[in-house]
Amino acid sequence: MRFLKLFELSNSGGDINSDTFDKLSNQTNGRSALEPGNTFDSFFDQNNHFVKRNKLLSSRQKKKLVQIKSAYKSGVYTFHQALDYKSGPEVELDGNSYKMLSSYDYLGLIGHPKIENAAIRAIRKFGTGSGGVRLLTGTNKLHLKLEKIFADFKGTEASATFSSGYNANLAVISVLMDAKDMVLVDSKIHQSTIDACKLSGVPYRRFEHNNPDSLEDLLKRYSFSRKVLVISEGVFSMDGDICDLPNIVALKNKYNASLMIDEAHSLGVLGKNGRGVDSHFNIPPAEVDIFVGSFSKGVPANGGFIAATKELIILFQHASTPYIFSAAQSPSTAASIIATIEVMGNESERFEKLWGNTKFFISELNRIGYNTGVSSSPIVPVILGSDEMALGFSRKLFELGILATPVIYPAVPKNEARLRLCVTAAQDRLFLEECLGVFEKLKS
Ligand code: PMP
Repeated sequence: MRFLKLFELSNSGGDINSDTFDKLSNQTNGRSALEPGNTFDSFFDQNNHFVKRNKLLSSRQKKKLVQIKSAYKSGVYTFHQALDYKSGPEVELDGNSYKMLSSYDYLGLIGHPKIENAAIRAIRKFGTGSGGVRLLTGTNKLHLKLEKIFADFKGTEASATFSSGYNANLAVISVLMDAKDMVLVDSKIHQSTIDACKLSGVPYRRFEHNNPDSLEDLLKRYSFSRKVLVISEGVFSMDGDICDLPNIVALKNKYNASLMIDEAHSLGVLGKNGRGVDSHFNIPPAEVDIFVGSFSKGVPANGGFIAATKELIILFQHASTPYIFSAAQSPSTAASIIATIEVMGNESERFEKLWGNTKFFISELNRIGYNTGVSSSPIVPVILGSDEMALGFSRKLFELGILATPVIYPAVPKNEARLRLCVTAAQDRLFLEECLGVFEKLKS
């Protein structure tokens, strides 16, 4: 079925077993068991003339729209589900209650009164918008406070905040690296890093996932490059494993390379008070040249960060286009992050809960017979194989009251389509047992 190539514009698509999909369709008499909501506001009720007329669209883009329509009409479009209220273990969609199993609010801090109150106070004092970019009129005292507190938290000299983690990645790579340099990335690195290399015109090579030997081969091969930057992630976003930081640090030192770690999923999850992957391994933060990440996961807000030496931070503030040309974070966002760092320091029981839940959930899923891959963190993939399996399973769970995100090719390799489940500190044992009960039922 063509729609399964939903995220793919190239035509190197995966193998699709249309029988499986047809079976799924039949189970619901061709009607969607999933309420697709009104995301597209009846746009797809019309025929396909909408794509024929638009001269802006190439044939590949038209095909993509038809694929989206097909997925939507068939009821396997599980994306864009709009929550009625704030996220948490139980969420509401159109008045119906669901168990949320794919939110990356790892510490369960969405809705924390101290964080919400800090955001509200910031709105009262500074307003809802920052009114400019950081260099010009957008900086307020909260930004400066946040950057000081966050640098202390990460153990670096300085930090800078960005409108997103995506932009933070773009800032580092576009400023520091050019065609004479080489970026070596883990093969499972997040798309934002790959985009940053492409947009910056920097050559990059992938080493085998978390494999020091493969990294060493590349370090030897590209030792002639003017600069070499190695990039990995604290916790990998699709597989939930932790990067082999001790070996990566040893290799970057041996070959005089530099190291950047994306802590989008390790901030608030790994190390003392959620400080990150260096703390997890007891490695001094100075061994990592640049930390980047997002404030949208362990920290329940928005925006991105770079934490590094003062000279690098000052350079990024004055040379990176995402900093110079994108508006400063809103005051409420900055205040939420400051409050979260405080909460992380005061509520250590959240980390115990998160890790207790993680161990329990992974071991129970394995006992029932699910493949959770190499995960050793709150990101728990349930690897199912084909795209149809993942989409169908997600839909089945939805019908049974559980929201679990499917991830299909090319976000993950072909035949490794999965559900991407997340454990949080807000879930209790009963919640996890009830979810596991559903998984057990679907296995038999
Ligand atoms: N890096 C990784 C590893 C991520 O998972 C993400 C977002 N999911 C980002 C960067 C981008 O962060 P943001 O959403 O703040 O742009």
